[in-house]
Amino acid sequence: MARPSRARIDLGALRHNYTLARRLHGGRAFAVLKADAYGHGALRCAQALAGLADGWAVAFLEEALALRAGGIDGPILVLEGVFEAHELHDVRAHGLWTVVHHEAQLRMIEAAAAADGAPPLQVWLKADSGMGRAGFALPDMAAAHARLSACPHVGEIVLMTHFARADEPTEAATARQIAAFDAATAGLPGLRSLCNSAGVLGWSGAYRDWARPGILLYGADPMPEPAGGLRPVMTLESQVFAERTLQPGEPLGYGARFVADRPTRVGLVAIGYADGYPRIAPNGTPVAVDGRLARLVGRVSMDMLTVDLTDLPGTGIGSRVELWGAQVDVNTVARAVGTLSYELLCNVKRVPRVYED
Ligand SMILES: *Cc1c(COP(=O)(O)O)cnc(C)c1O
Repeated sequence: MARPSRARIDLGALRHNYTLARRLHGGRAFAVLKADAYGHGALRCAQALAGLADGWAVAFLEEALALRAGGIDGPILVLEGVFEAHELHDVRAHGLWTVVHHEAQLRMIEAAAAADGAPPLQVWLKADSGMGRAGFALPDMAAAHARLSACPHVGEIVLMTHFARADEPTEAATARQIAAFDAATAGLPGLRSLCNSAGVLGWSGAYRDWARPGILLYGADPMPEPAGGLRPVMTLESQVFAERTLQPGEPLGYGARFVADRPTRVGLVAIGYADGYPRIAPNGTPVAVDGRLARLVGRVSMDMLTVDLTDLPGTGIGSRVELWGAQVDVNTVARAVGTLSYELLCNVKRVPRVYED
């Protein structure tokens, strides 16, 4: 038998989540597919959303070119923009949209000549409205916009910004970002784009022309108290392939991090940190075994991990184990290890992805 570990990807759930985001926000919405669609497979996800999504967003040029090579047409926004001037050639040849968020990028665009036959560059001018990371300072936005407008090879200019704390519903920083962005761009023409997933889910005052949802597409709600409605897309699963019973006082696995305090029936599960399941997951991290909640015990190894089956009669070799999915919220696992669903999902590797329509 082949190793029974896989990431099942529910493409119907992906479409459901995209549709929900687009309906909530109104206007148009990118499907953010960077980092191989947060570990879900960018090309397959794009294909599943073709005809539904208004466009795609990725982090950098090579991610966009991989989608084009796979036959994906429609707008693709390159969220980090280009790193070197020569990339603009591919941006134009493939009809990509590019973000410009700092002076050197602006100069590269100014220096690019109008190319015969190439469509005008659509540029997304990014403001730093309070995140303090990428983007033009608000007082510099008008001048940057004027310089882009003066380029004969630049077509439409869209204004955008990104939120630092939109996943904190009671935090005033997001409202300040919205107001500051609006004030600094009030006189400038062009469409606007503010919302990431948390913006879409929590900040209706930031709805503009284009939304940029990422994590919510994959069904992991970034808000502290999810309103519900999203469907998890990935189920990371494996099986119990062996079992043994520990007597009280017997240690389990590396570092003897778990020691039985009663006769303990332990199942060995064929998935480990080399597959992306976090090694630092503590004793007690929830898993589901044949649909029932159980707990991880002992340290996660490279190729396997161990679960407590003592209170789950009827389970054993061959039992299906869900590491996250519909029963075990990936956010719960993320909290247990002090990270975000984003990181766990992006880290999934080695296991085959199985797509379900
Ligand atoms: C990654 C990214 C997004 C999507 O963020 P989520 O939190 O996953 O919705 C949106 N906008 C920009 C600029 C990004 O880099």
